[in-house]
Amino acid sequence: MSDSHNNPPARSILTRLSHLGRPSGDDRIFVNQPVVRASTILYDTVADLHAKKARYSYGRRGTPTSEALETAISDLEGAAGTVLTPSGLAAVSLALMSALSAGDHVLVVDCIYEPGRHFCDTTLKRFGVTTTYFDPHVGAGIADLFQPNTRAVYLESPGSETFEIADIQAISEIAHARDALVIVDNTWATPVFHRPLELGADISLMAATKYIVGHSDALIGTVAANERAWRQVKTTHGNLGLFTGPDDMYLTLRGLRTLGVRLNQHQQSALKIARWLEGRAEVERVLYPALESHPDHALWKRDFSGAAGLMGVVLKPVSRTGVAALIDGLVYFGIGYSWGGYESLALPTYPSTHRTATSWTAEGPSIRLQIGLEDADDLIADLADGFHRLSLHG
Ligand SMILES: *Cc1c(COP(=O)(O)O)cnc(C)c1O
Repeated sequence: MSDSHNNPPARSILTRLSHLGRPSGDDRIFVNQPVVRASTILYDTVADLHAKKARYSYGRRGTPTSEALETAISDLEGAAGTVLTPSGLAAVSLALMSALSAGDHVLVVDCIYEPGRHFCDTTLKRFGVTTTYFDPHVGAGIADLFQPNTRAVYLESPGSETFEIADIQAISEIAHARDALVIVDNTWATPVFHRPLELGADISLMAATKYIVGHSDALIGTVAANERAWRQVKTTHGNLGLFTGPDDMYLTLRGLRTLGVRLNQHQQSALKIARWLEGRAEVERVLYPALESHPDHALWKRDFSGAAGLMGVVLKPVSRTGVAALIDGLVYFGIGYSWGGYESLALPTYPSTHRTATSWTAEGPSIRLQIGLEDADDLIADLADGFHRLSLHG
């Protein structure tokens, strides 16, 4: 048995997902990393304590469990380093805090996950950072929005409610010429389908809560950074005293093992359902970048190698009670926040209520579907019954 788990020669993503972050050395006989619980870590002598050379010094500073997950994410994202946070939202706020100081200005995409917007408008503002929101389709036009003190650009691509894709390459070139860092929320695609750092971004973060964990049973975030941003991210993470529960790290490592096959299945079912939805008379538009009809389909094809299972559906004008009737009676779709688990979810969404740079004009109400790992035809039958209930309400 070769001791190559931390440095597998094969570069295919499925192979790496099976082998990254596995135990090495004498521990390689165990398939999985042990869950190490540690605050205190012991030293042999006072001299060792003073030498500050120990691989592990204190639980919050890292354990074999946290290291295994960080190393795996760094490899997948192509990063210089990764830190873990107690939730996806903590990854959003950590990335912003790492890049910004009092007196700075940040450019933030208008389709940012709403609690991230709230962080900018309240906490960042209180610490003297100003925010300007911009159109997700701004592209090279972002150059006009820079101020002398702009130090970061924040993207979420695609937006997790409205599914616009940002041109990371064009935006990163402009940001770097002006000495600003580019941060991308990569939760939807994960590095299996999309690697923002390769396109020029400096920080790629994820709510690993979603697809990486994959079973709706843990909250965790990852912040992966390139050489330019890594020291700032690592120092800010250390200063904030962030640490993630070892059981949640373990669940995340476990999720990685099946991430590739799960995402491939999510994609296959989501594409089938998206195409079926496009053919329904009740549907105005389906917001799913893998569809040829999506306005950013060409950009998605250029920058992504696949699509996840989350999509938006804009309905023809219909009452809110009609939408509720559609969703309430679904058998396989749960009603709830979050996504990325094995189970399907449906939710009404109100994108126009949290936009400031652009207006979201839709013909009718919107819903968001997370397509889980159930049989796609069962899900289609469930949705067809939902449309029937909708028709009874008008
Ligand atoms: C869910 C989500 C987050 C926040 O993740 P939590 O783990 O719920 O805090 C951040 N960004 C996006 C795009 C999300 O969907």
